[in-house]
Formats: sequence, C-alpha cells, structure tokens
Amino acid sequence: MPVTDLTAVVTGAASRRGIGRATAHALAAAGWNIAVLDLDEAAAKESADEIAARHGVHAVGLACDVTDESAVAAAADALAADPRPVGALVNNAGITSPTRFLDVEAAEWDRVFAVNVRGAFSITRALAPGMVERGFGRIVFLSSVSAERGGGVFGGVAYSAAKAAQLGFARALAREIGPNGVTVNSVAPGLIDTDITGGALEGERKAALLAGIPVGRSGRVSDVADLITYLCRAESGYITGATYDVNGGSHIH
Ligand code: NAD
Repeated sequence: MPVTDLTAVVTGAASRRGIGRATAHALAAAGWNIAVLDLDEAAAKESADEIAARHGVHAVGLACDVTDESAVAAAADALAADPRPVGALVNNAGITSPTRFLDVEAAEWDRVFAVNVRGAFSITRALAPGMVERGFGRIVFLSSVSAERGGGVFGGVAYSAAKAAQLGFARALAREIGPNGVTVNSVAPGLIDTDITGGALEGERKAALLAGIPVGRSGRVSDVADLITYLCRAESGYITGATYDVNGGSHIH
C-alpha cells in the first residue's frame, strides 16, 4: 500500500517549534496522511490544519495525553475508524528534566518515565498490532544524546535513564516484529533548537555549548525530521533495531 493511503501518527506534534511538528510536516511532504496526537486538542487540531493546508494530505489532530490509558485507547479507536490505516508511528512526545541526582525526587523520576517510556509503550501497544496484522509498519523513537553520554546540559539522571530505556524497548520490539514487516528504529538528537532548549542558546552559555559541537551550530528540527522521514519510507525496510545520532558530531567529543 503506498504511503498516500496510510496515516503516520506523530505524538507531541503540536509544539510550534518542536521536532514532532517538523516531522509531521516532512512526512506529509513525502505523501503520508498525518495524525497529530498531543495534550491540547486545540493545538493538535491547529497543527493538523496547517499540515493539511500546506501539503494537501488528510491530517487530523487528536487530544491524547500518552500517559492516560483511556485517552490512548480513544485515540486508537478514532484511528482504527479511519479508512487510511496507521503505517507509521513516531514516538516523539517527551519531557525533559535537568535535575541532578542529589536533588531529584521520585515523583519527578516517575513523571519523566511516565511520558517518555510508559507513554511510548502505551501508544505503541495500541497501534503496533494493526501494523503487524497488515504486514507493514514503521516505528521511530525519539531518544537523546543524553542516553549515551549520560546527562549533560539538558538531561539529568531521570531523562538520561528514560531515553536509554527507550533504546532497549525499541531494540527488543524490532526483534519481535521484524518478521511482520514492521521496523523499529531510534534517533538520538543532540542540541536541537526547540522550546525545550531555546533559552540555553542565548547569551553566555551559547558559545560554550557550540564549542562542543564539531559542526559549530545547534541542530535544526528539519535535521531530525528528514532522518525520521527517511526511516519511514517503504524502501527503508532493511533498517531496523538501529539508533541514529543527529548531533553535529557532539558524540565524538
Ligand atoms: P517540545 O517541548 O517542543 O515538544 C514536545 C511535545 O510533546 C509538545 O507538543 C508537548 O505538548 C508534547 N507532550 C508532552 N507531554 C505529552 C504527553 N504526556 N502526551 C502527549 N504529548 C505530550 O520538545 P522537542 O524539543 O521538540 O522534543 C521532542 C522529542 O525529542 C522529545 O522526546 C525530546 O525528549 C526529544 N529530544 C529533543 C532534543 C532537543 O534538543 N530539543 C534533543 C534530544 C531529544
């Protein structure tokens, strides 16, 4: 089935300057129909409307807190009723936590894991069976350079641990559902200019941050969105269980 007959679901794709929204646009430009899932229904619909208007695809915005099982079930039901079946899922919804170990409380740890790990599990658990049944699917997780490097500017212990947990989940899932035509990959961005990181890219900290990035600039959301779109192509079916760094070379420092 061509991607023009399928829907790509992108969680957390409402944020105006975010990676998820840019990814939804890039996928739509490649012909995918889009479902934007995000916390706020109005923001999700506004994002979907912009995507539909710009790319001429079908796009829907659904309110879905990925930590809320009933909201995930409702979104999955709405998607199952759509004639364009889900062919791709981008697990992008995430929150960061810069807190250092000696200050972090269990509640913050749990919240970071709830969104980044359990939320990704819940939506994947709801949507992957349909992909397996149809014999085609593309699943991409948003991990982080923090998973490999162990923290850093934006990722404290909880965030780094959660992003590393996603990698294990993605690899195990890739092994299980590879025979069913469903690939599962992770992208690990470095410093990308979005609302999560925006403030740090101003003033005195900026020079210090950029000094750690061999290409000498922060990442653009399109740097990540283009890679995800490549991984979601029908032709990318031999790429699975992989993790791709998108960090301007910061991992070699
Ligand atoms: P962002 O804050 O701009 O966007 C995140 C989106 O997720 C928002 O639209 C938000 O409403 C949504 N969201 C948050 N909690 C949610 C929930 N419970 N249910 C549904 N939606 C929820 O963030 P971003 O910088 O675009 O980051 C996107 C992803 O990329 C995240 O997983 C983040 O950890 C990861 N990442 C970002 C960077 C970076 O430098 N920006 C680096 C590495 C990894």
